[in-house]
Amino acid sequence: MPARKAPSPEEAKKLFLSYPNKKLSYWAEEWGITIERVRQIKLESGVGSKFDINIDIVKKIADKIEKGEYTLTSIELYDNFPIGREAFMTWIRKSKDVENLILKAQETAKRNKLNPENKECKKCNSIKSIDEFTKSQRYIDGRLPWCNICINNVLKLKKNLEKKHVDYVKKKNLLNHLLWTKITKMD
Ligand SMILES: [Zn+2]
Repeated sequence: MPARKAPSPEEAKKLFLSYPNKKLSYWAEEWGITIERVRQIKLESGVGSKFDINIDIVKKIADKIEKGEYTLTSIELYDNFPIGREAFMTWIRKSKDVENLILKAQETAKRNKLNPENKECKKCNSIKSIDEFTKSQRYIDGRLPWCNICINNVLKLKKNLEKKHVDYVKKKNLLNHLLWTKITKMD
C-alpha cells in the first residue's frame, strides 16, 4: 500500500530540496510509484542535484536573516522556501559565495540588534524612534529603557511630590512655630 499519492511538481520540488540525501527509491516507495516515475517528477520539478545552488533563494534567505526575522538555524525560516535547513547547510559548505552572503547578513542583523532604529519603551510600551531615548552606557543598546516623555513624566511627578513634601514641612514648621508661640505666650 502506498503511503500517499505522488505530489504535485511544486510539492515534489520542496521535498527533493528538503531531503537531498534521500534516494529516488525512497520516494518511489513513499509515493507508491516506480523509481523511473520519481526520476521524471524530479526532472519536471526542475530540481537538479542537491549541489545546484539557487542564488536567488540564497539572497532571499540572507535577507530574512539580515532583517532579524529568523536565524540561520531556525526551521521556520525554511518554511517559506523550497529548500530545507540541512540542504541549505550543504550549500553553505559547498560555496564561499553563499557562506559570505550569510555571514554578512548575520553581521548586519547583529549590528541592528545592538543599534536599532526603533525601540519599545518599557514604560508606555510604544515603539518609538531611537532618538526618543536618552543615551546611556549602562544599557546594552546604549539607551535608557524608558522614552524621554515617560522619563519627563516621572521627573515631573517626583518634583511635584518633593514640592508637596517641602510645602508639608513648611506647614508643619509653621504650625510648630505657632504652637510654640502660643505655649510660650501662655506661660
Ligand atoms: Zn514611554
